[in-house]
Amino acid sequence: MAVPGVDALLAEGVKGKRVFVRADLNVPLQQGEVGDDTRIRASAPTLRRLLEAGARVAVASHLGRPKGRRVTEMSLRPVAPRLAELLGTGVSFCEDCVGESAEQAVADLGDGQIVLLENLRFHPGETDNDPDFARALAALADVYVNDAFGTAHRAHASTAGMVPLVGRAAAGDLLLAELEHLEVVRKPRRPLLAILGGNKVSTKIGVLEALVGHADVLAVGGAMAYTFLASRGEPVGNSLIEEDQMDAAARVTRAAKETGHEFMLPIDHVVAETIEAGAPSRIVSDIPDGWIGVDIGPATARAYAEQAASANTVFMNGPMGVYEVKEFALGTQRVAEALAGTDAITVVGGGDSVAAANEMGVTDRITHLSTGGGASLEYIQGLELPGVAALES
Ligand code: ADP
Ligand code: MG
Repeated sequence: MAVPGVDALLAEGVKGKRVFVRADLNVPLQQGEVGDDTRIRASAPTLRRLLEAGARVAVASHLGRPKGRRVTEMSLRPVAPRLAELLGTGVSFCEDCVGESAEQAVADLGDGQIVLLENLRFHPGETDNDPDFARALAALADVYVNDAFGTAHRAHASTAGMVPLVGRAAAGDLLLAELEHLEVVRKPRRPLLAILGGNKVSTKIGVLEALVGHADVLAVGGAMAYTFLASRGEPVGNSLIEEDQMDAAARVTRAAKETGHEFMLPIDHVVAETIEAGAPSRIVSDIPDGWIGVDIGPATARAYAEQAASANTVFMNGPMGVYEVKEFALGTQRVAEALAGTDAITVVGGGDSVAAANEMGVTDRITHLSTGGGASLEYIQGLELPGVAALES
């Protein structure tokens, strides 16, 4: 891979250099307190290595969707003390990410010191990738590091626009790890099993199309499966389907036949009268009128689990059912456990899929959990990520 990492920067030396780190510190805030701090923890290793090498670090991120305005509830300020705790060093905070105050805050840093800049998206220029805003960010740095994989598929000022304006650029540890593991799916040790679920064909059609010719076995679950079943004229009751994706589903099914790769749909289902905890439910092989498919059935889960046991690489994206409701989480649970138990390299991507894996307590037995939902799907499709392309050139 042509993307330089932190190792390359450290080899050249960063002592005394102003290093701008684009991190993903987009954490949930409750009453001004950091909730789940996974993203702050994940960002710490790159920051720590740079600080230990004597860099003067300005770390920047987005938080929420303030749409170009200053929104007090979306301030990154509460992140500073948590980051300080994790790094074991003071973290100062600057009320803006560009302009005089930010320039002064960076100028005030000594070697090995760090300042957290305010939410990038308080400025419309961030998501607009405005050249003036990109220049203002670039003015803060001698070296640029991107460690925010989750936004690497967006051409924003802090992920793309500013990069060529700074002398030196590299990928952070987190971003490099993401690329390396997703590369394992792009160039897998075969057989490659892809298990795709979640609620919509429309949001994942690109991945479906990319994987149908690529994966040796493609297994579909979640609500997505019902659009496939409906496109084959099978009964789906009141299950969530996308009428306008029936053609796309039929196209994927045809492509699977043509390539000769195995394509699996659920052979049994958990159906319920409503998608609610406590709703009457049962296991069926054909969905009756008036019922909603809410999870793959046990025979399907067993079939997918057997595939996981004989694969050498497994990629999973999207839960197999409405995992948020305990009674409808069993299919996702069984498949997650099969991934945890296989000797194959296992990569799980997608916000809900990672949340499900966390809830099911299997994360330490999964090779790689991809934090960047949209970015990982685009990368697996073979699309160029603007944030990565910027580092390559
Ligand atoms: P990810 O975030 O892992 O990419 P998605 O966002 O595509 O996954 O899908 C997750 C959502 O899909 C969950 O909220 C889950 O409840 C929903 N879902 C899965 N199966 C069904 C189903 N059978 N009916 C309705 N919703 C479903
Ligand atoms: Mg999701």
